Amino acid sequence: MNGFKPIISDDGQTQQPLIIAGPCSAESQEQVLQTASILKEAGISIFRAGIWKPRTKPGGWEGIGSEGLLWLRMVKSNYGMKVATEVACRQHVIEAISSGVDIIWVGARTCANPFAMQEIADTLEMLAVDIPVLIKNPVNPDIELWIGGIERIYNAGIRRICAVHRGFSVYGKQIYRNQPQWHLPIELHRRFPDLPIIHDPSHVGGKREFISTLSQQALDMGFDGLMIETHPDPDKALSDKNQQITPDRLVEILAELQCRTKEHSDELLSQLRHQIDDCDHELMEVLSKRMSICRQIGRYKKDNGISIVQNKRYDELLSSRLTHAQELGLSDDFIKRVLESVHSESVRQQSDIFKNEKN
Ligand code: PEP
Ligand code: MN
Repeated sequence: MNGFKPIISDDGQTQQPLIIAGPCSAESQEQVLQTASILKEAGISIFRAGIWKPRTKPGGWEGIGSEGLLWLRMVKSNYGMKVATEVACRQHVIEAISSGVDIIWVGARTCANPFAMQEIADTLEMLAVDIPVLIKNPVNPDIELWIGGIERIYNAGIRRICAVHRGFSVYGKQIYRNQPQWHLPIELHRRFPDLPIIHDPSHVGGKREFISTLSQQALDMGFDGLMIETHPDPDKALSDKNQQITPDRLVEILAELQCRTKEHSDELLSQLRHQIDDCDHELMEVLSKRMSICRQIGRYKKDNGISIVQNKRYDELLSSRLTHAQELGLSDDFIKRVLESVHSESVRQQSDIFKNEKN
């Protein structure tokens, strides 16, 4: 997949970073319009609000439904903002598009379901619309499933696609509601460098106090934008109340964020990367030298009837290396994992000598 296009390109320019804000759910006409008016004043051009809400359990607030589409139209006509809502099936796509929704997004639970993704893709193809589609990562940390969802939408002819990183769920209590697992969006970017990716700190953090730090982290990593849930009275929100912030707080957070321009950091970055290249080069050479010495020891052990694994020697080695590592400020856990991996490869090399080299 390639040839992705920016999801909005007014005057040929894409707003950098791209900011999408608005409530988790559209709850009332007043709440929608009040939020939109402050966001508009703050320079936000894309308004989000869910009207069909996928809830974990029945009985929760499942969204206002189609009635909310009317409020989104008012946001468009009163404030000239682009409006975005979540779709999960054919009917949602048809209704959203016929009501003039500008951008649709596919949620994490839907992205995890290839049947639903295909249904959405087929509907878009049938309607022959060229609408921007945001695709959240699936709830489980499966990058192929995320790419598969993106590919289905891409195959329907949509090129204004944007991936949304909203974290991955794990069992048990964690600091964040959904684990960021930053390496997954980074890997997605490595495979599809021209696919825009934005971060959703609201669903990752699950709590208001994490929004600012997560947003900055995402911008530092080069994400193209943020989607942030905003509610005029978060404590009274009908869904995701702990993670929503007021539009005024959003304005404060945005003002504090440091947007690192790519040009600015390029020179220093490339110098540092060269240093990393050198370190890795040395690391490879040292590892290769170490393995060659291990093979010599293997030959010696074999010739002298000594067994490969000598626990006492390994324990001593581990403890002396850990002391050294501590002096160098390296974490015990990390060094243990490195040494275990190096040791198990050394054992494998020596076993090969025992098996293959004749006396
Ligand atoms: C949402 O954006 O309100 C939402 C339901 O998100 P997710 O699919 O990431 O849980
Ligand atoms: Mn939400």
